[in-house]
Amino acid sequence: MKTKKIIIASLAIVIALSCSRTKKEDMEQKESFDYVLEQFADLRILRYQVPDFDELNVKQKQLLYYLGQAALCGRDILWDQNGKYNLAIRKTLENIYETYSGNRTTAEFEKFLVYLKRVWFSNGIYHHYSTDKILPDFSRDYFTELTSNSDNKGFPQLQKHSVLETLDILIPVIFDKDVLGKKVNQDPDKDLVAASAVNFYQNVNEKEVTSYYETMKDPDDTTPVSYGLNTRIVKDNGALKEITWKSGGLYGEAIDQIIFWLEKATSVADSPEQLAGIEKLIEYYRTGNLTTWDEYNTIWVSDTSFVDFVNGFVETYSDPLGMKATWESVINFKDLEATKRTKIISSNAQWFENNSPIRDRFKKKEVKGVSAKVIIVSMLGGDCYPHTPIGINLPNADWIRKEHGSKSVTIQNITDAYNEANLGSGFLEEFCYDSVEIELSKKYGLLSGNLHTDLHECLGHGSGQLLEGVRSEDLKNYQSPLEEARADLFALYYIMDPKMIELGLLPNEDAAKAAYINYIRNGIMTQLNRIKPGNEIQQAHMRNRQLIAKWCYENGKDENVIEKIVKDDKTYYRINDFQKLRGLFGELLAEVQRIKSEGDYEAGKELVENFAVKVDADLHKEVLARFEKLHIAPYSGFVNPEYELVEKDGEITDVKIHYVDDFAGQMLKYGKEYSFLPVVN
Ligand code: ZN
Repeated sequence: MKTKKIIIASLAIVIALSCSRTKKEDMEQKESFDYVLEQFADLRILRYQVPDFDELNVKQKQLLYYLGQAALCGRDILWDQNGKYNLAIRKTLENIYETYSGNRTTAEFEKFLVYLKRVWFSNGIYHHYSTDKILPDFSRDYFTELTSNSDNKGFPQLQKHSVLETLDILIPVIFDKDVLGKKVNQDPDKDLVAASAVNFYQNVNEKEVTSYYETMKDPDDTTPVSYGLNTRIVKDNGALKEITWKSGGLYGEAIDQIIFWLEKATSVADSPEQLAGIEKLIEYYRTGNLTTWDEYNTIWVSDTSFVDFVNGFVETYSDPLGMKATWESVINFKDLEATKRTKIISSNAQWFENNSPIRDRFKKKEVKGVSAKVIIVSMLGGDCYPHTPIGINLPNADWIRKEHGSKSVTIQNITDAYNEANLGSGFLEEFCYDSVEIELSKKYGLLSGNLHTDLHECLGHGSGQLLEGVRSEDLKNYQSPLEEARADLFALYYIMDPKMIELGLLPNEDAAKAAYINYIRNGIMTQLNRIKPGNEIQQAHMRNRQLIAKWCYENGKDENVIEKIVKDDKTYYRINDFQKLRGLFGELLAEVQRIKSEGDYEAGKELVENFAVKVDADLHKEVLARFEKLHIAPYSGFVNPEYELVEKDGEITDVKIHYVDDFAGQMLKYGKEYSFLPVVN
């Protein structure tokens, strides 16, 4: 099973007032804090607050500072992984941005700026979500005009090439849709390796890679390492060879910087377990040994320190074969107040499992290893920056999850920022059917959205069991959307349960209604904002949401559970009967669980193909037009705060936090201060 990383659903999930933090000074601070910095193309730049940072002790602050520096040092690794020429292109574009002496007020120059910002946002030339190449809106001629009027000395040079030759190599990579055209190609009719531009493979094809790893795997090994996780594969004299990402190996210059800051962190570690963990991680970065990586994860998963972090080659979404991981980092500390919420949930895990509407033989006899917390992030890096998840569940290795459990987190200050940014955007007024819906969403949307994430992450994915001999891979390409549907349905079914109020997790049933309203509206309608006209739904989380919303709409038609209403040429989906809808969620959960437990590929395929993939063209057009009018971009990302060490007589006495408001400024700063790799690796 892969990591259950929750990405932001869409505006709907997080629209409402914050209920989690009511302290007066926080409220006052929030009022004067601008969450939305700018918007361009399909992207919006936000910033997040780090509440309570000032109240931490100096040792905790120092630890966050050192880990934060380590989080920034791996940035170039991700850029290079995302495409062979990304670093050279970034340095070329930044040199133009800083030294172009021509007219900077023209519409053409504005188009150049938008292109540069899009590349910054995606950590390379491929869209962060669709993985298609981002094509500039300006011509090659204009690009030549830009390069010839910029400081020639500032341009990068590829090995054995002059500046001019380098530009000649980069131009088709930037402008030609067919040259290294897509980062991750999942078309089953193609050679997935050869057709993907991601920089994990050089001069090899899918068949060669697959058989290379097949011979390595031992089917009787119950604790296998994550083969190929931290290497690039190349051909050397006709034979395949792995080059490891480690100190002294590929990306060694950046990894040494990461190690430098991790070593500093050992001096202020939160606990003996954390110290052991950081030392193990350093050992792994020095050796590249995947057994050491597993040992590190085993320590990490049981480490409950107040300050915590992710740093490493973790997620495999960008590898068409799902083995090689991109580099990422998230630095955080516990939101103690909100963590009470997840503690209540996980300590009742067995009750939820026992009362689930699925068949008894698919239930887990004993639920274990659910560790959940709510966190505040202080720094995002690599593949979590600027676009970031709102929930994370790690580690990824199946056997570690089974034997040692997993850690599940909900990121409070990121959902807070999304929520604050969307208030006043006009979204609710546009898509809610009436003022009752608006009020419910405003009052309870954030609270119930966060609870949904908690239930999804810390119970949903872990619930249920496979029948003997069934493997989750049996569902093949339908595995991810069905797995996400299972976790969402679990959350939806229980959020309306009286147990929520009894446990003090929700104040009343209205809060659960807000969750249902937001979910259905998003799943059937507003998430279409992310799809280009004429396209179908590809992304697993989006497929899952439409599957659930559409299935419930269709199957509740006889009793008018969800009603489609057109008012003033605008479409709304209104829930008439919340209890019946809960019943439908339970029914679908039972069926999806059966499909998973029995490995029923055909039934899974039918569900996904019938409800999750196709887009209603007229509704899609309408939704896009309504969003267009509101001017809300479908994707968001964040700038980080900056931190400054305060020293007195050689001692660190404090760490100050500064909130920046300049996206380009942060990108240029990172490009200068945290760039450690040659332009082509
Ligand atoms: Zn999930």
